[in-house]
Amino acid sequence: MREIDSAEPARRIDSAEPARRIDSAEPARRINSVAIIGAGTMGAGIAAVSAKAGCRVLLLDVDEAAAQRARDSVDADFQELVSIGSVDDRLDDIAGYDWVCEAVIEDLATKRELFERLEAARSDGSVISSNTSGIPLRQISEGMSERFRRDVAITHFFNPVQVMKLFELVPGSDTEPEVIEAFARFGAERLGKGVVHAKDTVNFIGNRIGCYFMLSGLHQAKPFLADGMTPETIDAVLGAPVGLPPTGLYGLIDLIGLDVMELVGANLAQNLPPGDRGLEFAQFPAAEQAMVARGQLGRKTGGGFSRRLRLDDGTRKTETFDLVTGEWRAATEPDLEGVPAELGAVLFADSPQGELARHIFGGTLAYAADLVPEIADDIANVDNAIRWGFNWVHGPFEMLDHLGPARVIEFLHGVGAPLPAMLATLEASGQPTFYSPSADGTRQQLMPDGTVAPVAGAPIEG
Ligand code: NAD
Repeated sequence: MREIDSAEPARRIDSAEPARRIDSAEPARRINSVAIIGAGTMGAGIAAVSAKAGCRVLLLDVDEAAAQRARDSVDADFQELVSIGSVDDRLDDIAGYDWVCEAVIEDLATKRELFERLEAARSDGSVISSNTSGIPLRQISEGMSERFRRDVAITHFFNPVQVMKLFELVPGSDTEPEVIEAFARFGAERLGKGVVHAKDTVNFIGNRIGCYFMLSGLHQAKPFLADGMTPETIDAVLGAPVGLPPTGLYGLIDLIGLDVMELVGANLAQNLPPGDRGLEFAQFPAAEQAMVARGQLGRKTGGGFSRRLRLDDGTRKTETFDLVTGEWRAATEPDLEGVPAELGAVLFADSPQGELARHIFGGTLAYAADLVPEIADDIANVDNAIRWGFNWVHGPFEMLDHLGPARVIEFLHGVGAPLPAMLATLEASGQPTFYSPSADGTRQQLMPDGTVAPVAGAPIEG
């Protein structure tokens, strides 16, 4: 294992960490091997990146064939590092691994029952985690042993694990700082991931904001569709003009799956805090519910909001699902007439496209600006999560800086909209932007209490 002798801790969870740990060249916990329970999409991906980093990997599943398939999908050069088996036959073998990583189905009862068994079998000094996308750690840990609560965290990879840079870490209220430090070092140094420190709130950071964009987008697009704006135009406006990938809104949901998004919405409806603006959008709109009911789920079923057809003459044709008529029709060119080329300028445009961008993208920026410090200690963790998890050009606060916070604040005052928490903090602080260079040239950020502090951890990238 590569030794990490920097005096700089990769984590910034709380400042109460004993100094001897920070100064020590020896990390308090080492991760050189991982036992992964659940060999589906995510377990296979975590096995692949861990083996590639030189770790011994044990992959267990109730379905041994799934474990075999997962091993087969690991880069041939590293397969010999991966052993597999049935969770019933080989559970005791997890005692020989530094990290026990749970990646089974997203069901609280299944995870809790499994964690009871894993806790009895794992060694002292090992660390243990869940890859859940949205179940709060406190629900998993409730009533579990003290050792478990000290050694457990959420380690949230994004799909596909081999490609996506984001690695969210979430401690529970009793998690030892050295456990988070071990995961942060492993994620950054061994796997090359972008580590983001999140709090134990529903959907953590990336999916809290990313899913708000998608679910609020589906609802807020309705009046524009009714007025004749096409899904092609909506996706195009919510792409490059605002610094998002070309999938826009509908293309992104087609990629993720409408069924997955409907479930995410149901989880949000149950677990968002009272008063959260996401609650009004959590339920799928009627037309999208009907699509799920008839199996029109997205790319994985050959069509969702869009589909590619192979014609008899061998050529391909793209069709768009018209959400107003409920019929498929030939795809059309987006209407970007009058949409300014400059990044973000559409948000101030006096046009239907400008109004759409303000409602859906601007609304998402406002939502994000209201969630610090609820979901993260600082804005840099939010920006990193959105860039690394959703491939935005700028994270929400970086985008607000790009637009000019004063201009955004003036606009919101002008339409009588309340200022989101961090914009109000910025206005009261007198700072012109969320990020600024410090005297020594490093980056500093506006904190939720109105002070300015260095950007710690991973550097901010464009
Ligand atoms: P999956 O359905 O592809 O795989 C789950 C695997 O767990 C299956 O092979 C199943 O046989 C196995 N399993 C079920 N119960 C088990 C048990 N008790 N013991 C051992 N194995 C068991 O699921 P996935 O997409 O890989 O998701 C795994 C976890 O990661 C979930 O918590 C999910 O929310 C989370 N997650 C998924 C994604 C994604 O995009 N797929 C992204 C981030 C996080």
